[in-house]
Parts: sequence; structure tokens; C-alpha cells
Amino acid sequence: MTFRSPTGAEDLLPERAAAFRRIEAAVRDVCERFGYREIRTPIFEYTELFERGVGETTDIVEKEMFTIPPRSEDGEASLSLRPEMTAPTARALIEHNLHKARPFNKLYYIGPAFRRERPQKGRLRQFSQFGVEAFGSDDPRLDAETIQVLAEVLRAAGVKRTEIRLNSIGCGVCRAAYRDALKARVKADLAAYCPNCAKRFERNPFRIFDCKQEKCRAISANLPPIADALCEACRGHFAEVRRSLQAAGLDHTLDGRLVRGLDYYTKTVYEFTSDDLGAQNAVGGGGRYDGLVAELGGPAMGAVGFAAGIERIALLLGDGAAAPAACDFYVVVIRPEDRGEAFKLASRLRTEGFAGDLDYEGKSVKAQMRSANAAGARHVVVLGPDEWARGEVKVKAMATGAETAVKAEALVAALRGRSA
Ligand code: AMP
Repeated sequence: MTFRSPTGAEDLLPERAAAFRRIEAAVRDVCERFGYREIRTPIFEYTELFERGVGETTDIVEKEMFTIPPRSEDGEASLSLRPEMTAPTARALIEHNLHKARPFNKLYYIGPAFRRERPQKGRLRQFSQFGVEAFGSDDPRLDAETIQVLAEVLRAAGVKRTEIRLNSIGCGVCRAAYRDALKARVKADLAAYCPNCAKRFERNPFRIFDCKQEKCRAISANLPPIADALCEACRGHFAEVRRSLQAAGLDHTLDGRLVRGLDYYTKTVYEFTSDDLGAQNAVGGGGRYDGLVAELGGPAMGAVGFAAGIERIALLLGDGAAAPAACDFYVVVIRPEDRGEAFKLASRLRTEGFAGDLDYEGKSVKAQMRSANAAGARHVVVLGPDEWARGEVKVKAMATGAETAVKAEALVAALRGRSA
């Protein structure tokens, strides 16, 4: 019997892990440059948080959560693996009163999220998300800032081409009026839509814009866009977001169909997409969610953020994403009986801060040299019987091929001098 990883959950083998780490380093660097501070929340939460915070009518909550049912013995409520990190971040903000210590908080996160979806290219059941959330401001420039953060992360990670799609879905007031108008207009045509749309429409009419089916898209293409129904304040907000994007040098496309799947969005919504990704073409997406903190029991406050997927960025970068690890030295022994001395040398060099390796497989001298080459070692330290009898080793600089005899006690200084 052999075991496999669970459906939709992948092992990150060393090269892929290195590619992920490079993307994560870009995330940390850019987020911190923009003044966001890291937050780490648990990978599971009480299920109710997602029901309230993501919305009970969403696919995520309706169908895709990994839920651990409540245990009657201890009376603990149902738990779910997090399908996203915005609701947990807002929960943590409220629980720890971060908004009282500072009325304005900029946070970022990186970590796994879980959705029980049908796996396909770029869609997993355990995937890695990063994102930012800024709490405590209504300023439209902040919406633009979050978009710039994602654009910069993608640029720093080496992603070449993505498109920024932008829309506004209005506030509680104009959105509600538009929703009623939309309901009235679509009701007559509902039979022409797919069964999924018909079902979704009852609970959240905006979701008909989300449908990927051609026939549904064709009908909804004739519906008036929400942008035309925005109130004065939302219109002004959206115009300022667009001006700020221009000021930041970010091209974008207006997309009246973009409504995003989660219930908590208000005003600005955006998505970064790439044609190089196939069906799952979203790299990341976000928007403003001014109602969420109050919905979760905190004070009313403006908030905006995005989440993006590391797997999809790794797909866009291809195999070239991982840079090989640095290797300062490789210790080669001529005689097997000197392996103990080689171990001592290597351990000293490593505690001095050098990166390097040695043979543990009893390889021939030639094979050890091949390992040194494969590791990309900058120096090979040869421990040969004649030199060792004089308390010396031979150091070969791999770039030039130059060999020098070095006293064992001077090895650290010699490598340091040459590594510099
Ligand atoms: P969402 O909150 O659904 O917009 O997700 C934000 C980003 O997370 C998406 O744009 C994707 O890059 C990524 N993502 C969402 N679901 C998955 C999944 N099942 N597998 C891989 N990446 C995902």
C-alpha cells in the first residue's frame, strides 16, 4: 500500500518551496515598504465567523468549507479551516482592540487557505494566499495604494503581464436601489439563465454577473452596469481611485461585470488577471469592505484590502522562479579515514556562517568533486593526507581553478577574504 497527498493538496518539493519563498520574500519586502505590518491568525476559526464575514450565500461558505462538526461532549461550536483571511484579520482587529490603540491599521498576511473545490490547474484545496487589509479610513487613495501594493509585489516577484480590472459596486444606499432595479429587470428573463444563476439570483442577484457560461454572459451583457447607478458620493470616490491609480502609473480597465464572489464588498472592487493562466485567470483580487468590521461586532469603519494566490504567481513565473542556494564550500576527502576531520572542518565553517556541504555517501574523490560542482560550491576544500600532515588543506577557487595551501586555523579567514 502507498499513500498519496489528499486531493487538491500538494507537497512543495524543495525547488518549488524555494520558488514560493522567493515570492513570499517579495510580499514581505513590498508590504513592509508600504507600511503594512504582518499578522498571523489561526488556520481554523469558528465556522460562524465565515458565515457572517464571508456570507452565507457565497459558494465558499455554502459548498467549499472544510468544517469540523461541533462535539456535543464539550459544547464547542463548529470549526472550519479558513477559506480566506479577511474575516479572521477583522476578527483579530476587533478582539485585540487594535483599532483603539491606533485608529488606522495596515496589516498583511501570508499563509495557507482551504476550499473544498474541484481541483484543476491553478485551483487547489489547500493553497497559499497573501494579502493586505487596511482598517480605519475611507480615503479612496488607500484603495489605490492596495492596488499598487499588489502590482509592486508582482513586479518584484518577476511577473511580466497582468491586467488590472476595476469596478465600483456602490454603497449600502445606491447598491440597494440598483439591486431592486436589477431584480425587477432580470426576473422576466430568469428562465433563460442557467439553473445555477436562477438559484443564486434569489439570494444575491449580483452573482449573475459572475457566471462563466456564455449564454448567461450574453444576456447579462445587456443589463445596465452598476457604475451608472452609483450615488454622488460613490461616483466621487471611484473617480478619485482612478485618478490615484493614474498618479501611481497604473493602467487599468473598467469592468462593469466585476462584482467579486464575497458578500462584504462595497464601492471599489478589483481583480488582477492574466491570460497566461487559463480558466482560473485571477491572480488576486480585493476591494473596499466598509461594512465588515461592524458586521463582525466592531465599530463602523472604512476598510480595503486584497488577497492573491501564490500558486498562480508561481505558475506565471514558470520553472525559472527558484534561484539555487548559495554554497561557499565543499569539503572533499582523499582518504575515507579522514572523514571525521572533514566533518569537524565543515561544522566549524558552518558555525562561522559559511554555507556548504560534505560527503555522507562514501563517494570517490571524483564523485565528491562532481557533488561540489553540482552544489555550485565557490571553494573546494581538499583534505589530503600530505597537506593534513602539515596541518594544511588545499583550497580550490572554482571560478578560477586556482589552488592554494592554507593552514587549517587560517581557513575561516581565507574563505572570508575570498568570499568577500
Ligand atoms: P478570492 O478571495 O477568491 O478572490 O481569492 C483570492 C486569490 O486567491 C485568487 O485570485 C487566487 O489567486 C487565489 N485562490 C483562490 N482560490 C484558490 C484555489 N482554490 N486555489 C488556488 N488559488 C486560489
